[in-house]
Amino acid sequence: MPRLRPRPPVNQDTQFLWDGFKEGQFRIQRCVGCKKLRHPPGPACPNCHSFEWDFIVASGRGTVYSYVNFHHPHVPPFEKPNPIALIETEEGTRFISNLVEIDPAKIEVGMPVEVVFTEVDPELTLPLFKPVKA
Ligand code: ZN
Repeated sequence: MPRLRPRPPVNQDTQFLWDGFKEGQFRIQRCVGCKKLRHPPGPACPNCHSFEWDFIVASGRGTVYSYVNFHHPHVPPFEKPNPIALIETEEGTRFISNLVEIDPAKIEVGMPVEVVFTEVDPELTLPLFKPVKA
């Protein structure tokens, strides 16, 4: 049996994210008090300290803010090299994910990317990112 990806930590602050990924939505937590977006999700707003929050459905588009091609050690089931990027979303939050559908040697800071919801196994759908074709 192939080795599965590690399970994400899901709790009452992050459940909405994982539900969204399964439904094909890229969600970002929003403070009800001051409307500021935040990621990673948490119980309280770091801006105004409100405990009330909801979320928006984001565009799923952004740019590569930073990245690393992880070579060693090889950790199955991840690819080698494993391209890991910090994505700056159009909405202004940052999100860490894998880049797919690209030669790792051709990744550039600032390149436009978009989410591709990927069922990596029957119980886990991840928001991976691919380059936007010009
Ligand atoms: Zn707030």
